[in-house]
Amino acid sequence: MLTLTCPYCGVAAEETELAPGGEAHLTRHGPGSSDTDFEGYLFARQNPRGVLFERWRHAYGCGKWFLAARDSVTLQVFGAYPAQTTAPPDDLVAAIRAARPGWQPPAAVSAHPDGRTGDDYALNPTPARDTLA
Ligand SMILES: [Zn+2]
Repeated sequence: MLTLTCPYCGVAAEETELAPGGEAHLTRHGPGSSDTDFEGYLFARQNPRGVLFERWRHAYGCGKWFLAARDSVTLQVFGAYPAQTTAPPDDLVAAIRAARPGWQPPAAVSAHPDGRTGDDYALNPTPARDTLA
């Protein structure tokens, strides 16, 4: 079972306490954007085999949205962090690279549109752990 630690209330929430919100770090395109950009925003998802970044809501807890990094094959959870970030915290990226040498974040995740890094925001990352253990 997938267990994620909510970065807001600190509860280790099981999958049944959480509501999935899809891929994290999407670049939003709305009215005024090109049809191609809007179509990509609505329908195109990376769905990688391996490390992915997702949105989750602690639905049966504090109710807040947060982001998490995990491996889609092994279900290894690398950490969770607040949703008000444009990129994952640097220590989370380092933990993923330590576990998956050669891994590179997707372009949408590594982009910092406002020039800030993930650690420039108020963060509360959780340590990497393996939910299969
Ligand atoms: Zn919570």
